Amino acid sequence: MRTYGCQMNVADSSEMGRHLKAKGLVETQDPDEASVFLVNTCTVRQHAEDRAFSEIGRLKRWKTKRQGRKVVVTGCAAERTKEYLEDRFPFLDLVVGAKSIEDFGRMAERLLDRRETDEDLEYAVAAVDEKVAAFVTIMRGCNYSCTYCIVPYVRGREIYHSMEQILGEVRDRVSEGAREITLLGQTVNSYRHGQHRFDGLLRAVAGVNGVERVRFISPHPYYMSDRVIETMATVPEVCESLHLPVQSGSNTMLKAMMRNYTREQYVALVEKIRQAMPGMTLSTDIIVGFPSETEDDFQQTLSLIEELQFDWGFIFKYSTREGTPAAQLECWPEELIEERHQRCLELVDRIAVRKRSNLVGSTQDVLIEEGGFGRTRTNYKVHVEGDVAQGETVRVLIANTHRATLEGEARVQ
Ligand code: SAM
Ligand code: SF4
Repeated sequence: MRTYGCQMNVADSSEMGRHLKAKGLVETQDPDEASVFLVNTCTVRQHAEDRAFSEIGRLKRWKTKRQGRKVVVTGCAAERTKEYLEDRFPFLDLVVGAKSIEDFGRMAERLLDRRETDEDLEYAVAAVDEKVAAFVTIMRGCNYSCTYCIVPYVRGREIYHSMEQILGEVRDRVSEGAREITLLGQTVNSYRHGQHRFDGLLRAVAGVNGVERVRFISPHPYYMSDRVIETMATVPEVCESLHLPVQSGSNTMLKAMMRNYTREQYVALVEKIRQAMPGMTLSTDIIVGFPSETEDDFQQTLSLIEELQFDWGFIFKYSTREGTPAAQLECWPEELIEERHQRCLELVDRIAVRKRSNLVGSTQDVLIEEGGFGRTRTNYKVHVEGDVAQGETVRVLIANTHRATLEGEARVQ
C-alpha cells in the first residue's frame, strides 16, 4: 500500500488495510510478494497527484509479472479524475474516490471475490495498524470554501462520526497497542454530533482507559473556542502542542483566500492559547505565491512568522487546482513562487532550529513509538539511546539536537 498526502490519508489507508485484513489478507512491505497494490492518492497540490500517477504508471509492469494481481487506486485524486485514470491506466481493477471511502469494504469484497479465477494467488496487503500513535477520523469532508482548496470538492461536505463510533474506534486502537490518539478532520474542532461538541469529545477520548495522550489535527482558528482551549489546558492527556494553519500574514490575502479570520484575530488567539498553556509548541501551514500576493503581502507573512515564532511549519508553494475559485486568477511565475518559498523556509527553519536547541538540558517524557524513536508531549521527535520498549513512556534528558528535519528532532542519552 502506498499513501500520498496528509494524516487524513494515512488514517484512511489504515482503515482500508483493516477491511482487507478482515478479508483474510496479510501484510507485506515487499511489492514482489504482494498480490494487491493499493495506491491512496492526494490531490491537494499538483505535485502530490503527479507522484501518485507516475507510481500507478509503473504498476502496469508489476501487474503483468504475476497472473491475478490487482491494482486499486483510492483517495482524493481518484475522486477528482476517476474517468481520466480509468482511460489512462486501463489495467486498474478498482478506483474508489475519497467520497466513497466508507464503502471501500464492500467494493473490496466484490473485487476479492473474483479470486476464484486466480487460484494460486496469496493476497497480501500492507496494513498500517497496531501502532503506538494511532489516528482516528472523527469527521469527513469540509464546509469551508477556501478559494485555493480542492478538498471540499473531492471529499464533500462535513459528515461527523457519532461519539459512540469514535470511542469504539479509540478502544479498538488501544487494544491493538495504541497509547496516543490523534483525532482527525479537515476542521477537526468544528465537530458536532447531537449534543456533543469538540471539547466534550476531547474529554471523552482522554477518559478512555489506556489513552495516555490525545492530539488533534487540523483545527481551524475560527473554532478554537474558549472551551476547547480550556479543555486543552486542563485535561492532562491532551498534549501541549497545536498545529494551527494560518496560510498568510496579510489580511488582503486572508480575505482573498476566504479564511474567515484576520491576522489580528489569529495573533490574539495564539496569545490566549499560549497564556493558557505556557511551554506549548505551535506549528502552522503557510501558502506562498497565492495569485495577487504582492511583495508587501509576502513581507507580512514573514513578519507574522517573526512575531509568533512558530516552533515549526509547513510552507507550501501555491498550486492551482482546477475548479477552485482561485484557479480563475492569474498565477505568479514559478520562479517567483520558488523564491518566496525559499525565503519563507529559511526563516521558519532558522526559528525552528533556535527553538529546538532550547530543549537541550531539559527533561522530557517521551512515548516510544518504534526503533528507539518517540515523541515528547510537545511533539518533538526524539531518539532515545538505551533499552526502551515500544509503548513505554520514558523520562529523558535531551543531550543534543540536530537539524535533520524542520519538525523538531532531538537526540538524547
Ligand atoms: N483543513 C486544514 C485547514 O484548513 O487548516 C488543512 C487541510 S489541507 C489538506 C493542508 C494544507 O494544504 C493547507 O493548510 C494549505 O496550507 C495547503 N494547501 C491546500 N490547498 C493548497 C493549494 N492549492 N496550494 C498550496 N497549498 C495548499
Ligand atoms: Fe481546504 Fe479550507 Fe477546508 Fe482546510 S478549511 S480543507 S484549507 S477548504
